[in-house]
Amino acid sequence: MRGAGDDWHHRRMPPRRTLGSITVTALTDGEGPFFQPRAEAFPDATPEQWRAADQRDPASVTPDGRWWLPFRSFALRTGDGPVTLVDAGIGPAGSPAASWAPVPGRLPAELAAAGIDPADVRTVVLTHLHSDHIGWAVTGTPGRPYFPNADYVVQRAELAAMESVNPGLPAGLVAPLRAAGQLRVVDGDITLAPGVRVLSTPGHTAGHQSVLLEADDERLLVTGDLLVHAVQLVDPDLAYAHEEDPATARESRVALLRALTTHGPTVLATPHLGTPFTTL
Ligand SMILES: [Zn+2]
Repeated sequence: MRGAGDDWHHRRMPPRRTLGSITVTALTDGEGPFFQPRAEAFPDATPEQWRAADQRDPASVTPDGRWWLPFRSFALRTGDGPVTLVDAGIGPAGSPAASWAPVPGRLPAELAAAGIDPADVRTVVLTHLHSDHIGWAVTGTPGRPYFPNADYVVQRAELAAMESVNPGLPAGLVAPLRAAGQLRVVDGDITLAPGVRVLSTPGHTAGHQSVLLEADDERLLVTGDLLVHAVQLVDPDLAYAHEEDPATARESRVALLRALTTHGPTVLATPHLGTPFTTL
């Protein structure tokens, strides 16, 4: 990483990295313990693998052995230009994630701390439509896009699957985006901007997608839930219990991580690991 601006030491500025001309800022909407024992979330993980994962990512385990889980979005920006936001967090009080995640989230304050006005966001990539990734996408009653100038990028397969799995979601999320002309439905891999690609990575959900940044020989992958815990870096074959199609999820994870490894070091920007940036 060139000019890796890791701002952990700086209290008010959210942590960030730079890749070429693009600054990637981690915005933590909330954090809390997972709702079930982690051995149930990753039923095939061995004690050795848990030890290796905890060594690699110590912030994701509590002293009493529970999974401690942040909920992050990532902002991509060149200078003070337009912002691409990857994922929209757990959302305000009463959002769909309220049943299991620590709402209200603090994304608005995180954006402000990073010097980003919601109006600066021109693209929102929703890696998938689970409730902890769409919280701030549409807010209020009636629902309105929280980012008034943004296209919201969603895979067609994700929309199709969600409309059958969770019929309430289209009304709360998709309908307001459609009505505002802000829903951008895509199929498979697309280029968002030079060096910024959306990659189809299905399995966690039917239309899951990740975002890959490339500059010269540097890479940064905003994973979404392609992996959700460091134990899946210790062994990418390990399934997460809440994947909709574990075999496809494993294929996506193993194939992409392997491809990136052959290209040299890649930084992973993850929503749920204890640290926002980790080197593959
Ligand atoms: Zn998630």
